[in-house]
Amino acid sequence: MTAKIIDGKAFAANVRGRVAEQVAGMKAAHGITPGLAVVLVGEDPASQVYVRSKGKQTVEAGMNSFEHKLSVDTPEAELLALIDSLNADPAVNGILVQLPLPGHIDEEKVLAAVDPAKDVDGFHISNVGLLATGQKAMVPCTPLGCLMLLRDELGDLSGKNAVVIGRSNIVGKPMAQLLLRDSCTVTVAHSRTQDLPGTVRRADIVVAAVGRPEMVKGDWLKPGATVIDVGINRLPPVEEGGKGRLVGDVDFASAAEVAGAITPVPGGVGPMTIACLLANTLTATCRANGLAEPEGLTA
Ligand code: NAD
Repeated sequence: MTAKIIDGKAFAANVRGRVAEQVAGMKAAHGITPGLAVVLVGEDPASQVYVRSKGKQTVEAGMNSFEHKLSVDTPEAELLALIDSLNADPAVNGILVQLPLPGHIDEEKVLAAVDPAKDVDGFHISNVGLLATGQKAMVPCTPLGCLMLLRDELGDLSGKNAVVIGRSNIVGKPMAQLLLRDSCTVTVAHSRTQDLPGTVRRADIVVAAVGRPEMVKGDWLKPGATVIDVGINRLPPVEEGGKGRLVGDVDFASAAEVAGAITPVPGGVGPMTIACLLANTLTATCRANGLAEPEGLTA
């Protein structure tokens, strides 16, 4: 069997297009422009790239982008004061604090300071609780993107056996909650799971969020399974001074021989994350203004 390749890049462009369309409609009908504030502390090169990309795509979707770049030695109190002012600012509908934060800043305290209604990353403990209890939450962007791809590929997920590999707060756990909410039978595997290949072999849906290059092999998969590869790993460069290849947590070549459908890396889940950030900002704006939620863009 040769798997269908799930084109996350094209799907993300479609999501961004739908967001832009609804933003234009909201402006015309209600005079409201959604605003996303992104806060970056320090000069981590990868974070700078993400923040630039988020800002650009926010503006392309017709939203206002507010970027706050603080120096690496910014005191925690100053960051908390900025978050307070963004919480109070009616032009700001979504707040994203780019992680990781420098070591002297308490990450949990900062995430807890964001107004849950503006928490477009879905990391605030209130949103985690709302999601876990099946209530209306802000849902973390990467798992939301995975869910959209799965629904698009499979339609109704009800009754499917799903295995999520990884139990992080930003991917594995919320992914498991979302699949449970869509009535899958969910197994969460992690570094202590015994017989991981045997566990994965029972799954109709496999979501790999581990951070280990090409760990999941084709012969671990049930034939026809749908495989969502969240991992982004850079292999060591083949030649000195070169850039190593990006690979996922799934061994794509062998998995594509067995799976029914699979996301590539790059071009699978990655582009969906920022698209879902824009979708979440639109959702937060709708909720703040008592407007109907955007269809097909929430969990
Ligand atoms: P994490 O390090 O916080 O969590 C990794 C999880 O994998 C842990 O729960 C751990 O128990 C599990 N694990 C580790 N070794 C294992 C093993 N041998 N067998 C089974 N489970 C094992 O990572 P994370 O933040 O959840 O990210 C996971 C991967 O997804 C990384 O490659 C990251 O770069 C990528 N990621 C991609 C996006 C995106 O936009 N596509 C977003 C977030 C994370």
